[in-house]
Amino acid sequence: MNDLVDLPHISSVVAGKPARSDRQTVVIDPASGSATARLICADQSIVDAAVSAASEAFESWKEVAPAQRARHLMRFRDIVERDKTRLAHAIVREHGKPLSDAYGSIQRGLEVVEFAMGAPHLLKGENSDHVATGIATRSSRRPLGVCVGITPFNYPAMIPMWMFPLALVCGNTFVLKPSEKTPSAVNMIAEMLGEAGLPDGVFNVVHGGRDVAEALVTNPDVAAVSFVGSSAVARSVYETASRHGKRVQALGGAKNHAIVMPDADMPTTVDAILNGAFNSAGQRCMAISVVVAVGEAYDKLMPALVDAASRLKVSAGTQADCFVPPVNSLEQYKKILRLIETGVQEGAALRLDGRPSNASNKDGFLIGPVIFDNVTPSMTIYKEEIFGPVLAVMRVETLNGAIKLSNEHMLGNGAVLFTSSGKAAHQFERDIHCGMPGVNVPVPSPVAYYSFGGSKKSIFGDLAVHGADGVNFYTRRQVLTTRWP
Ligand code: NAD
Repeated sequence: MNDLVDLPHISSVVAGKPARSDRQTVVIDPASGSATARLICADQSIVDAAVSAASEAFESWKEVAPAQRARHLMRFRDIVERDKTRLAHAIVREHGKPLSDAYGSIQRGLEVVEFAMGAPHLLKGENSDHVATGIATRSSRRPLGVCVGITPFNYPAMIPMWMFPLALVCGNTFVLKPSEKTPSAVNMIAEMLGEAGLPDGVFNVVHGGRDVAEALVTNPDVAAVSFVGSSAVARSVYETASRHGKRVQALGGAKNHAIVMPDADMPTTVDAILNGAFNSAGQRCMAISVVVAVGEAYDKLMPALVDAASRLKVSAGTQADCFVPPVNSLEQYKKILRLIETGVQEGAALRLDGRPSNASNKDGFLIGPVIFDNVTPSMTIYKEEIFGPVLAVMRVETLNGAIKLSNEHMLGNGAVLFTSSGKAAHQFERDIHCGMPGVNVPVPSPVAYYSFGGSKKSIFGDLAVHGADGVNFYTRRQVLTTRWP
C-alpha cells in the first residue's frame, strides 16, 4: 500500500470531526480499475464514539421544534443544489454510472429532503376531545433516539437521503455507514449538513465493511436500523438487529419482471426495456432483469430488442452519450461473467453477448448488454439476482401465466406490465405480488411522498422507506388519555 500514500483519504466523521484509525482500504474507479482514494475504516472505538456523540446530541436535538429542524434541511437542500456538480462527479468517479444518472439520483434524494421539510405537519397527532364524559385522548409522535443507516454502493447519495432527512426532522440523531465502495458522497453530505448549521453529533459517518456494520447493529445505544443492500445481508441484519432489540427495516435485492402483452406499443416498450435493463449497467434495484413475452408479443419484441441493445453505447460514465457504464467492482465483474457462463452451461440461448472479447479489465469493468432467450425458472440466471447488464427472456401463453411466474419468484421489488389494455392492467394491479408494480413505465420507483419498498424476500420488516412509512419508522406513537375533574 506504500505507493498509495499520496492518494486523498476519506475518514469517518464523528461530531463534525475526522476520526482516524490504522485500518484502511482503497476506493477504486470502475472506469479504470485504479485506486482513487484511501478509505480510513472505523474501528470499534470509532463506532462507539460515533454512537456516543449521537446519543449526547439527541438530548438537545429532540427538544428543537420540528419547524426549526426542518429549516436546517431547507438550508441543506440549497447547499446540495449549489454543489451538485461536485457531488455528481464524486458519484461517477466511485460508482461508474453516467453523469446524467448521478444528477437524477441526487434530484430523487432531494425530493425526500423536500418531503421531510413538511415535518411540522407530518408529526401532527390526532385529537378526540370527548371520548367519554370529561375525557379526551390525543396521539403524538416521539423520536426514537440514535438511528443507524447502512447503505449499498449503487446510490451513494440518494439512498442515504431516503433515510436521514426523515430521521432527523423526526427528532432523532443519525450514524450512517455507507458502502465502502462509494464512500465520498456521504462525507460531502456531512460537510453540507455542517454548513447548514446542524449541531455536531446529530449526523455522523462511520466507514468500513461488514464488521463496522455489525458493530453498529449490535450497539446497545442504537434504537433503530435502516438497511438497504442484498437480500442475504438484509436478512442477516434484520435478524441480528431484531435480536438486539432494535426497530429495523431491511430492504433487499430484486429480480424485476417486465411482462409484455401482444397489444403493447412495441417502440416505447423496447425503449423502456433498454432503459430498465441496461442503463446504469443494470445496477439498480428497480432494473428490469426478466422479460416475460406473452404469446405473439415475442415475435414482435425480440428482434427489435436485440437489435437496439446491440447498438447501445458501452463506455465510461463520464462520456457524454454513455448508456451502459462499467459495473462497480472487480468482484461484481467476475461474478457477472461467471453467472453468464453458468447460463450458457445450463442451456439458455445467448442472443446478445456483450462480454468483453479479452478478459482484461484494464479499461475498467465494462460488460456490454447480454440477452438470454429460452430461460427457465430452474436456471441459476433466473433464480439469482445478477445485478449487471444481463436480461433473461422467457415466454408464456397468457397474462395469468406471466403473473404466476413473477409471483413465484422469491424476490418482489418491482414488476412492470406493457399493454394497451386497461383490463389487463387492472388484472395485473390486483394479482401481481410485489411492492412497486408499474404499467408502461421502465422503472416504477415511487416519488418521495409515497413509500419505497418491495415484498417477499425483497424486504425484511414491516415498514418501507420515505413517505408515510418513513415517518412511522422514525417515530414511536404515544396515545395520551386525560381527565380534569
Ligand atoms: P451489500 O449487501 O453487499 O452491501 C450493502 C451494505 O451492507 C454495505 O454498506 C456493506 O458494507 C454492508 N454489509 C456487507 N455485508 C454485511 C454483513 N454481513 N452484515 C452487515 N452489513 C454488511 O449490497 P451492495 O452490493 O452494496 O448493493 C447491491 C445490492 O443492494 C443489490 O442486491 C441490490 O438489489 C440491493 N439494493 C436494494 C435496494 C432496495 O431498495 N431494495 C436499493 C438499492 C440496492
